Amino acid sequence: MTDVVGNVIKEIEEKNIKFIRLQFVDIHGTPKNIAVSLGKPEDIEDLFADGMLFDGSSVEGFVEIHESDLILKPDPETFSPLPWRPEESGAGRLICDIYTPEGEPFAGDPRSILKKSLKKLDEKGYSYNIGPEPEFFIIDQDDDGNYYPIDNGGYFDVEPVDQGTDFRRQLVMDLEKLGFELEGSHHEVAPGQNELAFKFDQALKTADAVITFKQAIKAIVDNIGYQVTFMPKPFFGENGSGMHCHQSLFKGSENLFSDPNSENGLSQEAMYFMGGILKHSAALSAIVAPTVNSYKRLVPGYEAPVYKAYGLKNRSALIRIPAARGKGTRIEYRCPDPSCNPYLAFAAMLEAGLDGLENKIDPGEPTEVNIYKLTEEDLKKREIGLIPSSLWEAYHALEEDPVIKGALGDHISEQFLKLKKAEWDEYRIQVFGYEQRKYIGI
Ligand code: GLU
Ligand code: MG
Ligand code: MG
Repeated sequence: MTDVVGNVIKEIEEKNIKFIRLQFVDIHGTPKNIAVSLGKPEDIEDLFADGMLFDGSSVEGFVEIHESDLILKPDPETFSPLPWRPEESGAGRLICDIYTPEGEPFAGDPRSILKKSLKKLDEKGYSYNIGPEPEFFIIDQDDDGNYYPIDNGGYFDVEPVDQGTDFRRQLVMDLEKLGFELEGSHHEVAPGQNELAFKFDQALKTADAVITFKQAIKAIVDNIGYQVTFMPKPFFGENGSGMHCHQSLFKGSENLFSDPNSENGLSQEAMYFMGGILKHSAALSAIVAPTVNSYKRLVPGYEAPVYKAYGLKNRSALIRIPAARGKGTRIEYRCPDPSCNPYLAFAAMLEAGLDGLENKIDPGEPTEVNIYKLTEEDLKKREIGLIPSSLWEAYHALEEDPVIKGALGDHISEQFLKLKKAEWDEYRIQVFGYEQRKYIGI
């Protein structure tokens, strides 16, 4: 038994934890779990030693019915009591890796996909750090089933306009119990919209944290009697919800994106990494903005990116370079939204960046003007292209991009493309109220 496992077992006993949720995600990043009730102390030891067999055939993107057996192996580093569950006979969760019965990492497990990409970095002694900024709306439903935001607040508002204050307080306290280091929380631009930024960490931990974060918020808000949505664009005419990803590469405690002697304080590595993200941005969109609704957020005028460009401080660009330098040097990729599967998104972003590094992809010159206001002629002159404006476009870009498909591996890229095509086809044939209002008089 390793020390980590020993400590987990001790904590389970001390905190009187009765239920262990073995957690993983499907291809969409939706959390799934199997709860195991612990009878005797050996139960948990057995769980760590042998894992748990489960039927993967009904999990979206996993396996066919004739090859359905898979094994959940809990990662002891991820143990945490669940603060929103009762303290007496409490619940704890362990995030699991998924293996085949033959003992191989399962190719359809998003967490394993990210681990595979990160392994390439381990060989170089690098770590990939991500600081995500998930935005979300707190909403309620009227008697007719229509959703509406719970307040009319705006950017950085305070109570009583901001109705999210108490809720964010509860959230911060519960998330801290789950081991989160939170950078700050605030009311965002749109009514009912909030943001909680958490401190950057190594990509695998951050991906686990994003899943925990979404799950915790939903559980906590549900207890308060409201709902939370991470839908990218829940309301027409208002800002949508992004999950900007601040990112950097480190070697030990050295930030490889920093170079105090360069003109902009960024290293050549940072520039090439950014070049890779820009080059693969169309295919990346399919993974980081994976729903038909994601593309209703990515329109001009709402602080969400539309154009393939980077800028220092520029919130209309796809990549922004925040002002911090030295250890805090990072790039902020603004396309991702919280509907993405963070394991797949981070693996794909990393492989795009690594392609930039390996092939010395030049990101070109920064764009420092409000790109939303540029004319078509200006855009042409500056050679600024558009990122995909629909899931359909992004889907086709992914089909054509071997680097990003390679990041997902054959199993996931095939499943993902199949599911996204079906999602688009389902959407394409709908007729919405807007269309009736616009065309019914024809
Ligand atoms: N809500 C905006 C988005 O969709 C971002 C606002 C901000 O810069 O925080 O990306
Ligand atoms: Mg924000
Ligand atoms: Mg941001």
